[in-house]
Amino acid sequence: MSAPVYKRILLKLSGEALMGDDSYGINRTVIERIVAEIAEVVAMGVQVAMVIGGGNIFRGVAPAAAGMDRATADYMGMLATVMNSMALQDAMNRAGLDCRVQSALNLEQVAEPFIRGKALRYLEEGKVVIFAAGIGSPFFTTDTAAALRGVEMSAEVVIKATKVDGIYTADPKKDPHAVRYQSLSFDEAISKNLQVMDATALTLCRDQKLPIIVFSIFKAGALKRVVFGEGEGTLVRV
Ligand code: UDP
Repeated sequence: MSAPVYKRILLKLSGEALMGDDSYGINRTVIERIVAEIAEVVAMGVQVAMVIGGGNIFRGVAPAAAGMDRATADYMGMLATVMNSMALQDAMNRAGLDCRVQSALNLEQVAEPFIRGKALRYLEEGKVVIFAAGIGSPFFTTDTAAALRGVEMSAEVVIKATKVDGIYTADPKKDPHAVRYQSLSFDEAISKNLQVMDATALTLCRDQKLPIIVFSIFKAGALKRVVFGEGEGTLVRV
């Protein structure tokens, strides 16, 4: 059997990925399916670091637009990512995976603080590491946290799991002629405003030459195909 193309990955899951068809929160069946996909690549020796969003529970922008203090709303959003991280860690443990949560906000009763060296050691030991609370600062997103932690962990790729199986020329739900990009450059993604990740995350990945692959976590075996370099999803590279 061929070997995985990537030895260490940073997997970014949006909060919405955890809610499945529910309108908010965490769907247990969905989370178990995601864990099974992750377990498959861990079993092949791939080191998996993760960042999870919080949009299924709380997103700072809308309440801020409605008059709430933006920084306060963003801290609430970061706390939402901690809840998602704990739920995922619990599901991983139940599936027999060793998983640690490191938080960018100090929450010592529920998660370890983010310590880069420790996280690297966990990865080398084959443990999954989930980075919670984004980068710990308001006015950022978990996409940016994924880019930052990806660079810090020397991951070879940021794999962004979405509901759509890649980046399209237009919204495939609205435009029947939309086609999926096999690959594109960071500059193209930024100039065409293709909504891969926010601009802060994209420019960080571009400057650090950290490629991104966008794929659907809902296609069975897709994560494994990404890790084996089988052309799944869309590759964004320098
Ligand atoms: N957030 C933040 N700083 C960070 C990461 C997240 O302030 O470093 C807040 C922000 O309010 C954001 C929310 O947490 O809207 C949830 O994160 P995000 O929207 O990235 O989640 P996703 O869309 O991936 O579910």
